[in-house]
Amino acid sequence: MPDKFMISPFGEEHELFRQQCRRFVEKELAPHAMEWEEKKDFPNEIFRSVGDMGYHGILIPEEYGGSGGDYLMATVWCEEMTRIGSGGVSAGLGMHALIVLPAIARFGNEEQKKRFLAPGVRGEKIGALSLTEPVAGSDLANIRSTARREGDHYVLNGSKTFITNGSRADFVLVLCKTDPGAGYKGFSTLIVEKRMPGFFQGRPLEKLGWHAGDTAELTFENVAVPVANRLSEEGMGFYNAMANLEWERLMMALGTVYGAQLAFEKTKSYILQREAFGRPIGKFQVNRHKVVDMAVEIEAARQLNYHALRKLVNGEECAREVSMAKIFSSKMGDYVATTCLQLHGGYGYMREYGIERFFRDVRINSIGGGTSEILKEIVGRMMGL
Ligand SMILES: Cc1cc2nc3c(=O)[nH]c(=O)nc-3n(C[C@H](O)[C@H](O)[C@H](O)COP(=O)(O)OP(=O)(O)OC[C@H]3O[C@@H](n4cnc5c(N)ncnc54)[C@H](O)[C@@H]3O)c2cc1C
Repeated sequence: MPDKFMISPFGEEHELFRQQCRRFVEKELAPHAMEWEEKKDFPNEIFRSVGDMGYHGILIPEEYGGSGGDYLMATVWCEEMTRIGSGGVSAGLGMHALIVLPAIARFGNEEQKKRFLAPGVRGEKIGALSLTEPVAGSDLANIRSTARREGDHYVLNGSKTFITNGSRADFVLVLCKTDPGAGYKGFSTLIVEKRMPGFFQGRPLEKLGWHAGDTAELTFENVAVPVANRLSEEGMGFYNAMANLEWERLMMALGTVYGAQLAFEKTKSYILQREAFGRPIGKFQVNRHKVVDMAVEIEAARQLNYHALRKLVNGEECAREVSMAKIFSSKMGDYVATTCLQLHGGYGYMREYGIERFFRDVRINSIGGGTSEILKEIVGRMMGL
């Protein structure tokens, strides 16, 4: 999608992969987006058809059924998923394949990798990540869920909210406290599986956007979770949760920019064919300037994202760049969505044009995965403020 003069982080193999992803998304997923949005759900079989294409395994080593790709390949899939036109579907697929499975690949033991990765890559089992609780989101260290060790299992109690794939998940990574007095070393991550007695998965919550996506509450009432289901060592939970945050945040920023680009292109075509007062509305200077302003913002966000991506791919410290990229991209996404909707006039407010869906879906990006305020705190601290 970027113009030829832009410096792209992608090579030829990524571009070929992009074409393949795009064909699949445009043929198999995008045509159903409207129906899934109306139903506020999409079938679990979609995870399997995406698994058949190998896309859940991009970041998973070959020995566990993946393709052992890098963050650039994952970025391509992440960007192309925005063409589905349903943030909820992209979020569900992205959470499973690009956040949950890589966490197991990185921190899981051999037995856990065999048990969860292969069926996860095939899309037969769906994963979720649960950090947020009704009492603590930004302030994660303040979560209340606890797990008490009793012999070969933990007894888990607590609740989580806003969990992507929460209703449908077959397994959930749960951040909890195993030693509440031990500060950051008192957290652990347990893998809780569907139908474990005492584990309740709520129905999808009603929300502004991501309508097809499943965002749910989870409750744990004396759930006996085998010690064999603990991800990495006891006391490593907070570290597990933080370890991949840069990628998770960058994913959201990348999706925002790509989504904004699609809305922008749709709007640009629209204003060149929609006429008022005897000429296309795009020929009024005020609207031409709006389009250029959007192009500037989108391009600036993309370059900031790709700068952070290059650092991430090179294994460099990038918390500052990623935070800046997500702050900037979220703000840009809201601005582009509002402007595109305005340029569509009344049609922008109507469902069938897809702009109102982008307008609703894009709003999450300054909240999920770390709010813009929290990210500003991170950057501020790094600036010595
Ligand atoms: C659709 C959706 C999907 C989600 N998916 C998941 C998921 O899969 N897994 C998961 O674990 N979580 C998920 N979340 C939760 C998300 O990560 C949290 O909503 C987010 O981290 C913010 O936490 P909170 O909602 O508790 O807000 P709060 O932490 O209560 O924040 C409320 C407001 O206060 C501000 N604030 C808080 N602290 C400060 C501070 N120190 N300085 C300045 N301002 C501050 C925040 O920026 C925000 O504006 C999801 C949320 C949504 C809406």
